[in-house]
Amino acid sequence: MTATAQASSYQRLREHLAYLKLDTAAEQLSQELDLATKDKLSATQVLERLLELEVEATQARRLRGRLRWAHYPVHKTLTDFDFDFQPHLDRQVVAELSTLRFMEEHRNVILLGPPGVGKTHLAIALGVAATEAGYRTCFSSATDMVQALQAAHLEGLAQLKMRNYTGPSLLVIDELGYLPLDQTSANWIFQVVSRRYDRGSVILTSNRGFSDWNQVFADQVVAGAIVDRLLHNATVLNIRGHSYRMRAHQEPATPKGGRAVVR
Ligand code: ADP
Ligand code: MG
Repeated sequence: MTATAQASSYQRLREHLAYLKLDTAAEQLSQELDLATKDKLSATQVLERLLELEVEATQARRLRGRLRWAHYPVHKTLTDFDFDFQPHLDRQVVAELSTLRFMEEHRNVILLGPPGVGKTHLAIALGVAATEAGYRTCFSSATDMVQALQAAHLEGLAQLKMRNYTGPSLLVIDELGYLPLDQTSANWIFQVVSRRYDRGSVILTSNRGFSDWNQVFADQVVAGAIVDRLLHNATVLNIRGHSYRMRAHQEPATPKGGRAVVR
């Protein structure tokens, strides 16, 4: 091939890649071709390398999109979590959850305990891990979810909004129980939980034990129905340690129960 023919073939290849929106491959083409000449790579090897770069860029872009959509308030990982600070939290249970088998089994995860013990941290870390594994996830505080559904309802858009909470493979509902929930709010939570029942996972955090839920919900029947569906297939982690936020002001955690209960 003459140098001119080669140059126009290169140009057309770049145009094809750009037309197909294979932007990374288009950008990397020149560099990859130089490398191919230098390392005497076969046509198959060059194509494989080029498409691998494109696949990696696409995966990273989709992950960013899923993370943006999920609305995690901060980025937390299990690696950031100091298990030594919560000696009664069963690492094995958390390690099992981190395999994400609970997602395949549509199992729920309930994180209970007083403020500051890392419930939200663990919920976000598991949610982020699921998002990285390719699942669509969504994070919301219980209050925000209820308010968003009620506001949508007033505009006649409740069913559309509901899909935000029922569509994703994982829904993280944070801070149930910080504020009491009236009948309407309880109904929204019931609808979300029952529609997800056996179809997707919920991670829920609460500073109240189940026995206190009758104080959280105005409607006891609905409260019972919510607990029933959430617990049907759930891993419950009851963290009874000290607040991490207050750690500078405290003695190290003393052994006082707080064992993980796996159902
Ligand atoms: P909770 O939801 O139980 O009230 P958070 O998860 O919000 O508590 O934790 C409060 C803060 O302390 C967060 O910044 C969190 O990342 C951090 N934190 C809590 N527990 C730990 C821990 N064991 N290791 C590292 N950071 C922790
Ligand atoms: Mg929290």
